[in-house]
Amino acid sequence: MPELPEVETVRRQLSRHLPGRIVVAVDVRDPLLTAPAHPDELGLLVGREIRRLGRRGKYLMVHLDDGAVLVVHLRMTGALRWHPPGDDVEGLRFLRAVVTLDDGAHVTFCDQRRFGRMVLLAPGGDPEAYWRGRVGVEPLSAHFDSAALGAALRGRRTPVKAALLNQALVAGVGNIYADEALFEAGVHPETPAGRLSRARVAALADAVARVLARGLDAGGATIRDYSDAEGGAGSMQDLLNVHVREGLPCPRCGTTIVKTRVAQRGTYLCPSCQRKGRR
Ligand SMILES: [Zn+2]
Repeated sequence: MPELPEVETVRRQLSRHLPGRIVVAVDVRDPLLTAPAHPDELGLLVGREIRRLGRRGKYLMVHLDDGAVLVVHLRMTGALRWHPPGDDVEGLRFLRAVVTLDDGAHVTFCDQRRFGRMVLLAPGGDPEAYWRGRVGVEPLSAHFDSAALGAALRGRRTPVKAALLNQALVAGVGNIYADEALFEAGVHPETPAGRLSRARVAALADAVARVLARGLDAGGATIRDYSDAEGGAGSMQDLLNVHVREGLPCPRCGTTIVKTRVAQRGTYLCPSCQRKGRR
C-alpha cells in the first residue's frame, strides 16, 4: 500500500509532466472510483489547465486553473501513471480511468482492489476544510517534532502503532514505515501511545521523519505491487530493518525478528530491541 514516500515520489514525477497541460478528455471506466459522486462529475476537468501537484499525507492533489482540486487516494493498489504521447494504454490491467492531455499524453489510474478514490473539490470552496479531522501533521514538514508528536499521542491508550497509523494524528505513515520507525526508536508497537516517556516520543519523532526521508530517497518501497508514475519500482524494500523480515536476524542485535498482529495489521519487530513495558 502506497504510503507518504510512495505518493510523494508519484507527485514529483507527475510534476515534471502535468503542469501547463490542458485536460482534453476524462474517461472513467469504473463508477466506484468517484463514489458516492457520479463519474460524470470528473467531466468538469475537461478544458482546464493543470497548475500544480500537491500532497497531504497519502492523498495526491491536482490543482486546476479555476481553483478546483482533484484529490486522488491510491489506497491499497491504486497506481497513477503518466504515459508519453503515442503510448497505447488500452492493454493495461485493472484500468479504471484515462485522462487525455493536450499534448497527446495520458494519465491512467489502474487499481486491482478498487479501493482507490477520486474526489473533485469544486472551485471557491475551502480545500483545507476537506483535510480537517482527516489528515494530521505532515511528518516531513517543519511542523513535525517531538512536541507535535507528543501532542498527537497524549492521553491515548491505543497501541502506539495504531496511533501512528491514524491518519488524523500523523499524515502518511502506514504499515511499512510505522514498523520501521518503532524499531529505530526501540519502541514496542503495543506500548500505549500516551504512556511513552518524553525521551521515547522524541526518539520516535526523529525515527518517523528519518525512515520516511529514507523511503523517499529510495523512490518508495515496492513490496507487492507499488509502481511509480513512470512504471518503475522503488528500492526501499532492500533497506528495511524489520518489516516483512520475519525469521531473519535483527540487523542491530541478531535476535530473530517476529511477526505479530497490532491494530489489525501484520506487525514486525525485534523482541530484544523493542522490549514490551519499556517506556
Ligand atoms: Zn534487535
